[in-house]
Amino acid sequence: MIVVMKQGATEAQISHVAERIKELGLTPHLSRGQFRTIIGAIGEEGAANQELLRQIDGVEQVLQIMKPYKLCSREFHAEDTVIEVKGIRIGGNYCAVIGGPCTIENLDMLEKIARHVRQAGARILRGGAFKPRTSPYSFQGLGKQGLQMLADVGQTLGMATITEVMDPRDVDLVARYADILQIGARNMQNYNLLREVGQTHKPVMLKRGMAAPFKEWLMSAEYIFSGGNHQVILCERGIRSFETETRFTMDVSCVPLARLDSHLPVYVDPSHAAGRRDLIESMALAAIAAGAHGVMVEVHHCPEQAVCDGPQALLPEQFASLMARVRQIASVVGKTVE
Ligand code: PEP
Ligand code: MN
Repeated sequence: MIVVMKQGATEAQISHVAERIKELGLTPHLSRGQFRTIIGAIGEEGAANQELLRQIDGVEQVLQIMKPYKLCSREFHAEDTVIEVKGIRIGGNYCAVIGGPCTIENLDMLEKIARHVRQAGARILRGGAFKPRTSPYSFQGLGKQGLQMLADVGQTLGMATITEVMDPRDVDLVARYADILQIGARNMQNYNLLREVGQTHKPVMLKRGMAAPFKEWLMSAEYIFSGGNHQVILCERGIRSFETETRFTMDVSCVPLARLDSHLPVYVDPSHAAGRRDLIESMALAAIAAGAHGVMVEVHHCPEQAVCDGPQALLPEQFASLMARVRQIASVVGKTVE
């Protein structure tokens, strides 16, 4: 349930309600809006508890959240959440593009691609160091060495960085090097991993599982929230369908749905959804037009030599043209490009 405090409720009243919530065996989560504070009371609720909380000074009303996800819902937090990373705003009326290689192959290629991406105007650099490969015999990533390269290049170019973490045991390590932690589609329901990133103070981009219904995706975000980390970015990356012309099927409808039902920033990764570079620009623009706060796009200066996902990597000049068009669409939908 949520406890909506009166406009102008005092700090003492707010902490008193939080204390009472704890006494009831529930966990309080504060959401401070522009006009009023809402306190989520998470756990087994009862009608008696609702009635008790309703009586406390400073409380305007006590409401049941109907959605199975609570802290992620718009009911809990009415305004869009805006996450700030290295001065880059993610969410709300901002649009921030993420670009970079699928995987970090060596320092030279990472630097080259990052420079192109930065020059085109993107401020967040992606690059995998731990790769979830379908085959155990495929390149698995450079691990810690790759993390160091990503951090160094990000630092040199003044870019924020994002990279995937696959194992709960690596969360501390990856959080030491990267600005944003990525949970891959294959790990969307790895609850131990979600709990672990929920303990960090780094923003987490949660990719949608390729066979996950919308609700399950949001419930996974709720795992991270319930651990205390409220900096979660959703990312649609294509779901499985009967279609074989594209690698996956980009579900554009989940963008407005996520914007309606939750307050979280929403991204789309058209690269993994399409699996082919000729569709990526149109899909990225569709995502921004539908309300996404940004796109994550794979870029490679020599895709035929890419170790991973070459067919879906944009060439640097294609990425630059994508950025120019993203700017146009973003301005139409009232977003500032970061
Ligand atoms: C990736 O972004 O590097 C990746 C592996 O994507 P996904 O988890 O969506 O397949
Ligand atoms: Mn990839």
